[in-house]
Amino acid sequence: MASSKQHTGERSFFEQVNIMFDKAAAMTDYPPGLLNQIKICNSVYHMEFPLVRDDGTIDVIKAYRAEHSHHKNPTKGGIRYAPNVNVDEVMALAALMTYKCAIVDVPFGGAKGGIAINTRDYSEGELERLTRRYTFELARKNFIGPGVDVPAPDYGTGAREMAWILDTYSSVTNNTLNAAACVTGKPVGQGGVRGRTEATGRGVYYGVRECCEYAKDMKKLGLEKGLEGKTVVVQGLGNVGYHAAYFLEEAGARLVGLAEYEGAIYNEAGLDLTSVVTHRKETGSILDYPGAVNIPNSADALELECDILVPAALEGQIRSDNVHRIKAKIVAEAANGPVTAAADKILNEKGCLILPDMYLNAGGVTVSYFEWLRNLSHVRHGRMSRRYEEHSARRILLALQALNNTTVDSERVDSIIDAVAFGASEIDLVNSGLEDTMVGAYHEIRSLSRLHDTDQRTASFISSIKKIATVYIQMGIFP
Ligand code: NAD
Repeated sequence: MASSKQHTGERSFFEQVNIMFDKAAAMTDYPPGLLNQIKICNSVYHMEFPLVRDDGTIDVIKAYRAEHSHHKNPTKGGIRYAPNVNVDEVMALAALMTYKCAIVDVPFGGAKGGIAINTRDYSEGELERLTRRYTFELARKNFIGPGVDVPAPDYGTGAREMAWILDTYSSVTNNTLNAAACVTGKPVGQGGVRGRTEATGRGVYYGVRECCEYAKDMKKLGLEKGLEGKTVVVQGLGNVGYHAAYFLEEAGARLVGLAEYEGAIYNEAGLDLTSVVTHRKETGSILDYPGAVNIPNSADALELECDILVPAALEGQIRSDNVHRIKAKIVAEAANGPVTAAADKILNEKGCLILPDMYLNAGGVTVSYFEWLRNLSHVRHGRMSRRYEEHSARRILLALQALNNTTVDSERVDSIIDAVAFGASEIDLVNSGLEDTMVGAYHEIRSLSRLHDTDQRTASFISSIKKIATVYIQMGIFP
């Protein structure tokens, strides 16, 4: 089996997820057989297929889809395009999806797919051809479908790839009525839901904000309550990292370091995210941003002095060989698996607070769930209630005004009513559902971590183990 050891220099990625699982499992009293059933990866499809390149040569493409758990259906998880994609990595990422969905009460099993390519080496036409072929392979083996397995974007993919997947799936299925629910993260015009693009980063922000609201926890770290003024370093300015940085900055945090694959930049006084992104578009690099110090070796940015470190690129970034130099007080795992099992132990011993991936980046799958529901119900969220809510609020306000019998002029009354009487639109509903989910899950994890006197990752595993075990027990499979 190919492994992810090259990322971490330690155990393979899937082994590491299982080490952390075992730590939590030991704090429960479920039988070993049940715990094993939760932990194993149910099915993996490894495929290889030819791609005719634009110049007429042929590449053989390696691709995978792992379905970790079918305790709930469909299974759900992103599709990653990256050079190091391998079977161990998709199994680890699929396992994290299972635990993630359980933590945020999204009724899916976990899955993950990937194609081992560097997207920068392929033209748009080539990417389209290989995405369509991959989808066709998945459909042929029943590894995709609204009630079977529902992919979404991950590293190296986005709405464009999801639209290709939908189009290909629609052309080979008989289930055309619900075909749009075969994939999430689609463009809004193709059945996507408003707010999905930024959902993971927004969820990261909600999680970090919630954590910083506990004055007692912050005091332990030598920090003040709240996000205002906290210094932040973000690694990876892709979908998740960019949006996490955006919302954290908007909430008053100070972005002091930003890292991309070409290097990193640092400015203690703060970096303006929008202007850094413009600079990168214009020059092709974040380096040489006016007023900032260049850090040529991007990984060194992880070691910068800061309150909150947000790794938002790939797994295995904080390992036993650099963990001792990490100075952040909070590590907010926007990426999946950025901290290895060995480094996790050391960070915890150092008193660092880790917001674990399986909770913190669950905003993506939460809003994907809203998209899937929208596709199956064939109606935009809020379509039937928005105007009704607006009229109801208007009636209440008019009644209150009549009761008050004030002499305020009618134009002013109208403008006040206009400002407060409105129904929720789809984006309002999506964002409020996301916020509620992230806040609720944080409180649950924090309470479990206090109850078991353990770190939040272990508490997150305990939360998901309990929820998944309950499903198996209710199925009558385990006593
Ligand atoms: P992306 O492809 O949009 O962005 C990743 C960014 O990281 C790219 O800009 C890339 O250049 C940069 N990068 C790569 N290696 C780097 C390095 N060594 N140092 C600095 N920057 C580096 O991917 P994404 O969707 O933002 O995913 C990032 C992470 O978040 C992954 O671990 C993914 O599994 C996880 N995640 C994504 C989603 C989602 O909705 N997209 C949901 C949950 C978790």
